[in-house]
Amino acid sequence: AARASGRPPATPVRCPLAPFGVRSMKVLVTGGAGYIGSVTVEQLVEAGNQVAVFDNLSQGHRAAVHEDAEFIVGDLANRDDVDSAITEFRPDAVMHFAAKSLVGESMQSPFLYLGDNVRNGLNLLESVVEYGIQKFILSSTANLFDDPETMPIDEIERIIPGSPYGESKHILERMLYWLDRTGKLRFAALRYFNAAGATKYRGEDHNPETHLIPLVLQVALGQRKEIKVFGNDYETPDGTCIRDYIHVADLAQAHRLALHAIDHTSHVYNLGNGLGFSVQQVLDAAREITGHAIPSEVVGRRPGDVATLVAASDNVRADLAWKPEHPEISQIIESAWKWHSDHPHGYEK
Ligand code: UDP
Repeated sequence: AARASGRPPATPVRCPLAPFGVRSMKVLVTGGAGYIGSVTVEQLVEAGNQVAVFDNLSQGHRAAVHEDAEFIVGDLANRDDVDSAITEFRPDAVMHFAAKSLVGESMQSPFLYLGDNVRNGLNLLESVVEYGIQKFILSSTANLFDDPETMPIDEIERIIPGSPYGESKHILERMLYWLDRTGKLRFAALRYFNAAGATKYRGEDHNPETHLIPLVLQVALGQRKEIKVFGNDYETPDGTCIRDYIHVADLAQAHRLALHAIDHTSHVYNLGNGLGFSVQQVLDAAREITGHAIPSEVVGRRPGDVATLVAASDNVRADLAWKPEHPEISQIIESAWKWHSDHPHGYEK
């Protein structure tokens, strides 16, 4: 693994920004150059933690990595890369964001998920356990709940992964369960619903982009002709699908809190706003915020979509004293619009 920070390793410091009683930690963040990972790194660094990002830049962006984080170019598929990152950085905790994350792609190419996502996660876990790292945070997903019996969805809902992507996260959750039971580590699995929004410096830059909010904003920027609405005949008030959009900074905050909560016991949380917004509501809000007409066309349903997916976030609120700071769809879209307007072609250009 090549080290690319260009600065000597810092000694851990207590940062004045860290709340009293919260100690700083050394955190290795896989996928810290990606969307949610980079925002979490930003918060970790600014709270006084020492952070190393481990990323192969297959999907992430070097420019998304906070300047005060160490950057390690490495591939989770290569156990030597993983081992040298862990033995050189010696983290107190690992946050694992790096993974393929497209439901549709996983239906086309299941082994990218049942193979690569699982093997890469296993490499990381083997190394984590071998070197005695005792805290692990996994990015998990709402795609564990393909056919929920209750809405909003709580943590005791039965798990029926909706795709090989969801199954790959389920397998990693099960590995963590057994590593906890055998006393190897403690973990938090955070099952994200729809991450959206941006901070001042970091936002969503996927290629190809498939997510609703950035696509809608690309139409507003004149980069796409129209947005296709995938179905308006669902059993929802306006017929379009309802999702739980959660601001990426609120997601990142939950990771920081979980890092301390797993001092004593492992946790699994469904992580959303608890508020659902329809595709039509997202479009209406985006039209108002951007001042653009954003032409749309209703087309057929997208395979695999369910009508409504909203998280019951009672547990994460109660246990971690977490609450979303940006719960409104208007706040989420406004922050994304600002970032996309400032970075019309994403990070690199
Ligand atoms: N969606 C849409 N048009 C698009 C992209 C997405 O109508 O071009 C809908 C999609 O069917 C879903 C919602 O927007 O109901 C959110 O989709 P996204 O891909 O952003 O997230 P997902 O819910 O699949 O994780």
